[in-house]
Parts: sequence; C-alpha cells; structure tokens
Amino acid sequence: MTTLFEKIIAGDLPCEKVFESDHVIAFHDIAPVAPVHILIVSKKVIPRLQDAKEEDLPLIAEMMQVAQQVAKQFGIEKGYRLITNNGENAGQTVLHLHFHLIGGKQLGSLA
Ligand code: AMP
Repeated sequence: MTTLFEKIIAGDLPCEKVFESDHVIAFHDIAPVAPVHILIVSKKVIPRLQDAKEEDLPLIAEMMQVAQQVAKQFGIEKGYRLITNNGENAGQTVLHLHFHLIGGKQLGSLA
C-alpha cells in the first residue's frame, strides 16, 4: 500500500517543501504544534524506526544531518526537539519513517 508520504514524494500530493535530496525530503507539517514543525522523511519506505536495518543507518544519519541544516535554516538551532513516533502506542499515524523537527517556542514536557 502506498503511504501518504510516498504520494507527497511522488508529487501527487502537495507539500510545503523546505529540503530535498536523493534520499530525504523535508516539508512543513500540515497541523503544526509549534511555530516550526517540519517533517524529515526518508524516501525509502521504512515503516517505523524499529524496522530500520543496519544498512539503513547511513540514511538515518543523513536525516539527522538534514535536521541540523533545516534547524539552522529556520533559526531554531539553539533549541529544538527531534521526535519519531514509533508504532501505535506512540501515536504514529503515518507508517513511513519520519522525524518531527519542532521548535520556535519554549517547549513543554515530553509526554
Ligand atoms: P505521526 O503521527 O508521527 O505518524 O506523524 C504524522 C504527521 O503527518 C502528523 O503530524 C500530521 O499532521 C502530518 N501530516 C498528515 N498529512 C500531512 C500532509 N498532507 N502534509 C503534511 N503533513 C501531514
């Protein structure tokens, strides 16, 4: 089954893109929880972080690097949160690996 993010990557659904490389895309979350809320998404479909294999580690490292770069781009490099929801119990709604880059305000507690 095609994930929502695959449709965005393919250009079949619109997004407010802030970064794209061969392996990673980043765009604004449609329902932001903070002034800056950007999703950093792998182009390869890995459902959850827990499903990532050793061969995926360079991709995940690249996603971290993109987080740094985008944080700088949006001027939040002094304080942000990078989160992945892994699975139903964590509230994951899109089964396609992504990190939420959140900032631009004083953030509250984690859970
Ligand atoms: P998660 O619940 O961790 O799987 O995160 C999925 C995120 O995707 C949520 O924060 C949604 O607001 C966001 N989202 C859903 N549809 C879209 C869309 N079309 N464009 C951008 N973000 C979306």
